[in-house]
Amino acid sequence: FTHVAEVLAHWEARRPDALALRYAGVDRSWAQLAQRVRRNAAAQRAAGLQPGDRIAVLDLNHPSCLELTLACAQAGTANAVVNFRLAPAEIAYVINDAKVRVLFVGPEFAAAVEALRPTLPTLERVIRVGGPDDEYEGWLAASEPDPAIYPAAPDHCFLQLYTSGTTGFPKGAMLTHRGMLAHSRNLAATQDYGPDSRVQVAMPLFHVGGTSTALVALTSGASVFLMRTPDPAAALAMLESERITHTFYVPALMAVMNDVPGAGARDYSSLQALCYGASPMPMPVLRRALAMFPGVLYQVYGMTEQSGAVSLLPPADHADPAVAHRLLSAGKPITGVEIEIRAPATGERVPTGQPGELWVRSEQRMGGYWGKPEATAAAFTPDGWLRSGDGGHMDADGYIYITDRIKDLIISGGENIYPAEIERVLAEHPAILDVAVIGVPDERWGEVPKAVVVARPGASIDAHEVVAWCRERIAAFKCPKTIDVVAALPRNPTGKILKKDLRKPYWEGRE
Ligand code: AMP
Ligand code: MG
Repeated sequence: FTHVAEVLAHWEARRPDALALRYAGVDRSWAQLAQRVRRNAAAQRAAGLQPGDRIAVLDLNHPSCLELTLACAQAGTANAVVNFRLAPAEIAYVINDAKVRVLFVGPEFAAAVEALRPTLPTLERVIRVGGPDDEYEGWLAASEPDPAIYPAAPDHCFLQLYTSGTTGFPKGAMLTHRGMLAHSRNLAATQDYGPDSRVQVAMPLFHVGGTSTALVALTSGASVFLMRTPDPAAALAMLESERITHTFYVPALMAVMNDVPGAGARDYSSLQALCYGASPMPMPVLRRALAMFPGVLYQVYGMTEQSGAVSLLPPADHADPAVAHRLLSAGKPITGVEIEIRAPATGERVPTGQPGELWVRSEQRMGGYWGKPEATAAAFTPDGWLRSGDGGHMDADGYIYITDRIKDLIISGGENIYPAEIERVLAEHPAILDVAVIGVPDERWGEVPKAVVVARPGASIDAHEVVAWCRERIAAFKCPKTIDVVAALPRNPTGKILKKDLRKPYWEGRE
């Protein structure tokens, strides 16, 4: 495939009646899905949307998000999927940044969007999806299916996923036909996806781990079993009842799966690949997962900027006691992906085993950050290497170990949190003179944000009130869980806060 719209036509012609998508008891065959997507593309055109325009989805997982993404590929528009965990001000930022013209909103978020409407100048129309006030089905039904395919260049964006920003604001990663299809091909080649695969999509579609899993499945002609939310008990029950072959979970979800009553007694024999990744996997969680899912665990290392997975640690490397140290590894690059360890300052390759920054190059790469050419130029070298911001090394057998983070990033339960976003909000607080946010260890979420603040002279800091200040402005998962008040923050001679020094006491003896 060179165009995402070819995927539906291909499987519709070969397997019209086979199951393409199941959600909440509703099934769509390939013929039905293809027809709905053609209607969707027509409805987008009828709404006046032009190639290059952005629509957006603000909803828990729902098939409409996948239909819209596929229809965008057909019509030349792009779906900017909004992280539904964001605070209202952040949601407005994303919608305005993408210049969204039509927004599709789930019942849980309709009131919030109504309240935001006056702050969303580009938004022309809100369409409710699902629930008693559904408008999506009527919107589709009003248009006749249109088979016309916008002749998109391979680097045309059809899906725009926001990643948190080092500058304090999220950036829209423009995912392209070429990049996403390369990812689907590369991953399918490594993990045996095919028309008989039954793929569970439990992770949110606003994250690359959710949407790219769905797109690998659809590209392979497999059936997608979409879950509205990543409920651990429901996900495990579905593995058994739907005879799932492939799925992807973040470590924070794996961590609670063992506590699901009866989880160990279910029949998971249909599983061929259970992928975990997006954040570091704690060893105790991995050991319990190994007991529950022997022979099918894959660790995935990936990133939005590369359309999903870039390396895998396959089941064989989880099972061999002779190479038990590999459980700490993120595996080897997948087909079609190059990974090298470079010195971040010079860009020189470092010798085997030596620490450096992981650089990644592949056809999977995004088109760039929407509207941010400088940020795009800073992320990639002229010859196409992405500076991942992840620190680590590669052993003599080519296995990658991620041991450090060069970028200032906290990963909490699989969600990326850039401390700069929290620092920006705290710096505006009247009682705060100086602030640094760091990640500290947490049993459940891997790590959680902690704020270290300096009070303004004469001011006193009330931790509860400061957290409430954050709650009003940023998503709950980004709000600091604890606040320390100090006399001064450690800085280097150029004034940069020494975050490593701040982090150290909390992480000593771990990792
Ligand atoms: P995102 O673009 O939100 O998917 O975040 C990508 C980042 O998540 C990577 O650059 C890593 O810092 C982190 N990450 C992804 N997969 C893993 C993994 N298997 N182990 C450790 N960190 C990971
Ligand atoms: Mg990212």
